[in-house]
Amino acid sequence: MIRVESVEKQFVGKNVLKNLSFSVPDGRITALLGANGAGKTTCLRIIAGLLKADSGKVSVGGLDVARYPIAVRRQLGIVGDREGLYERLTVKEYLTFFAGAQGIAGEALAQALESVRDVLELDSLWCRRTKGFSQGERMKVSLARALIHRPGHLILDEPTRGLDVLAARLLRKTLLQLRSQGTAILFSSHVMAEVAELSDSVLVMSKGAIVGNGAPEELMHLSGTDSLEESFVALAYGIKGTGHAEGALL
Ligand code: ATP
Repeated sequence: MIRVESVEKQFVGKNVLKNLSFSVPDGRITALLGANGAGKTTCLRIIAGLLKADSGKVSVGGLDVARYPIAVRRQLGIVGDREGLYERLTVKEYLTFFAGAQGIAGEALAQALESVRDVLELDSLWCRRTKGFSQGERMKVSLARALIHRPGHLILDEPTRGLDVLAARLLRKTLLQLRSQGTAILFSSHVMAEVAELSDSVLVMSKGAIVGNGAPEELMHLSGTDSLEESFVALAYGIKGTGHAEGALL
């Protein structure tokens, strides 16, 4: 489980995260929604230990991220910046490097490499250097890197951005498989159809605060709408309507 408790973050005097609290259970997929600039990436970076919260606490699998960052990394996979590939390395070399950083060696390494190669259909890319890879190819490698140590928790920042239909479908299939294996998954997205298809639970952020938290059906019920998109617009922007910008304020 990932737990975020009363997290606050300021950037140059601006409150970017305000008293943020939520949890992401094991074996569930949780979507993090919010307008541009709502604070989603900041929140995910704090969970990943890439950024420090000003106050509050984050734990992953019961371990405090601020106190045990290395132990947390061993049980957390992060899919964020797809530009972070080492372009001179082949996919196999790149993944071997990251597996080594997680202390995986010998037979366990061979098994870990084979597993991500199969699950993410990386055969044809395996011995290619990553320079010049397409968006979909980069995503697959980023996801393989995040999964190489079989983490029990996975966070993904807009993972399907720029992906074609097949690559997005492979990603969704992989997330559903991981959920069935008990992984706690948190992903941010602006794509309502994929959120509706994948999520057991949805967190809606607005201006750094959580303004909605529940199953998609619960949020629709609470906001009195019949689609997740309408529910999101009502919660995140305070606009209730039928898809028209001039909808009435709640
Ligand atoms: P998007 O959907 O556009 O990716 P987001 O919800 O992920 O947005 P964040 O990237 O978390 O939003 O940014 C939240 C706010 O914090 C924005 O106003 C952003 O400009 C600000 N911000 C983020 N990082 C920094 C930084 N390093 N320095 C100053 N301000 C920052």
